[in-house]
Amino acid sequence: MMFQISILLFTHLFLPAWFLFWLWKGKYKTKFDWLIRSLLVGTFFLYIFLSGRWDWVGYYFRYLWLLLFFIVLYKTYRGNRSATFYIRKDIKTWFFTGINIIVIVIFLLFSAFAISGYFYNEKPINLSFPLKNGIYYVGHGGSSPVINYHNIVTSQRFALDIVKLNIFGIRAEGILPETLTKYEIFGDTVYSPCNGIVIETENNLEDQIPPQINRENFKENRNNIAGNRVVILGDGYKILIAHMMKNSLMVSEGDTITTGQPVGRVGNTGNTSEPHLHIHAEKGGEEIPILTGEGIPVVFNGRFLVRNSLVFNQVGVNY
Ligand SMILES: [Zn+2]
Repeated sequence: MMFQISILLFTHLFLPAWFLFWLWKGKYKTKFDWLIRSLLVGTFFLYIFLSGRWDWVGYYFRYLWLLLFFIVLYKTYRGNRSATFYIRKDIKTWFFTGINIIVIVIFLLFSAFAISGYFYNEKPINLSFPLKNGIYYVGHGGSSPVINYHNIVTSQRFALDIVKLNIFGIRAEGILPETLTKYEIFGDTVYSPCNGIVIETENNLEDQIPPQINRENFKENRNNIAGNRVVILGDGYKILIAHMMKNSLMVSEGDTITTGQPVGRVGNTGNTSEPHLHIHAEKGGEEIPILTGEGIPVVFNGRFLVRNSLVFNQVGVNY
């Protein structure tokens, strides 16, 4: 976990700063050289804008870096106005230019792969957003594995992992605190996203201390990957709401429920390294257990949510 956190901080804070410095301080013989370096830095910023986990370092950085990039781009453009566009290069300088071009193409391909995750082919189901107490952030969502790690699992192809942001645009107080209440979303009430019948519940698993995962529970029962949960049978689909808080469920198996009815609270149980809400819809497969059907796209109040989508939601107010 420490390794992943180091990589995340490196790519979201250190590397952007370094790239800006590199673009700003470059000694450009020609406009062509400036253009190549600008494209390399620009495509890097495009890629992390789309695929970055900005809830870890602060959502504002997502836009701050872009703004700084355009300022440095403009400054360096002005500074090199009098340079000629191109002069003949020898093999050695073409070699380095060639490497830069390859890196640009790689960043562009990854960005295109991320953007492909904003689209879906099948008919989606329309749900009501299940949280109503602040600014929610989609950590995983969309139809591409670059922005949604669930995407490679058939039943969870369009699953979402949702956290909540504090005033700094961060999902927790600290990087990975061990106190559950330091995560903004912990304890938030979850509301039913649709009308339906509750067909499966679990309410007794202990909330885990981040980033610990109690794998014994999965060996006992594979469905406990979802932790404390509510499975709702809707109109031709079923919805899984996972990782809920121990003893927080407000519905029982067999209950008929309606959209907006409270069903429980966000916790940290099952296959989860920190408090968040997992939700997905699937069709086909067995009625019980879950994770046997095929994932289907969902839209919340008409929006298809992807990584870095924000939902501003308060009880009684929908933006
Ligand atoms: Zn998930």
